[in-house]
Amino acid sequence: MSAQVATIDFHVTCECSQECAYCWGPEGFVHPVDTATARRIVSRVKGVGARRIVFTGGDPLQRTDIGALLRHAKGIGLQVALSTTGDKLTTTFLEEFGVYIDLISLPLDGATEEVSARTKRQGHLAAILRALDWLRRYPQIDVKLCTPVTQHNLADVPNIVRLAENYARTTQARVFYNVFQAFPRSMRPRAWGELLVSDEEFAALERELAGHTLLHINFLSHATLDRLYVMIFPDGSLVVPSGPDFFVLGPFLDIEDFDAVLAASQFDAAKHLQHSCGWEKVAST
Ligand code: SF4
Repeated sequence: MSAQVATIDFHVTCECSQECAYCWGPEGFVHPVDTATARRIVSRVKGVGARRIVFTGGDPLQRTDIGALLRHAKGIGLQVALSTTGDKLTTTFLEEFGVYIDLISLPLDGATEEVSARTKRQGHLAAILRALDWLRRYPQIDVKLCTPVTQHNLADVPNIVRLAENYARTTQARVFYNVFQAFPRSMRPRAWGELLVSDEEFAALERELAGHTLLHINFLSHATLDRLYVMIFPDGSLVVPSGPDFFVLGPFLDIEDFDAVLAASQFDAAKHLQHSCGWEKVAST
């Protein structure tokens, strides 16, 4: 059992309805692993000692078998998070599979459609607000709102925080809020210069907001985000991102000594374990 990793992010697809300028998700995987292989990967995540799995993408709701994968993960005792673009969420899906989800993570790029549409498609904010409304019926599902900070929304972040605070006041679910500095890592060339906020700008934002909000905010700077994650890509590869690069450590299911492979990688286990305490359920701590 690994003592190095609490959470593994499984990028089950790179399909997504959005085309965010800052996207650091996997791209170009035309043939993601099939359902049987995905189930074996989920089991192996448990087998290597992780407590949690995050189904992410792309948008995991683009896979027709995502409900079955959530059910399998929950059934073998993993804590289950679904990180989704949000616009494909339906009440039918929540009714059928909500019971298998511990946390849903949704992006909030702006407090108005005008700001949101600078990085998401028009109508995305409305879709998130609709999803948040539905989620009030599922107080057992924690909600994590995430704002990637770019030059497009830097000035709007205080308004996005108010929106998140107002939501937290009107739901019984636990609400977490992550504000992160969009990271210059991508599988395709991007015009980062026009997009990124500097370390100084991000630190100033944190000073402006920290301690002045009802909602606890996790500020994730470049320094925090780097070497923080262990990922499985849609083709089943184990990946550790570091700096601008994704380091592929081999097919996850074929790795015999997971701890040794991870220890020899760029992964920062101490930082990861500290960060992973964030949304621990009280009953499982
Ligand atoms: S919603 Fe997420 S996966 Fe989709 S393009 Fe944006 S950052 Fe990438």
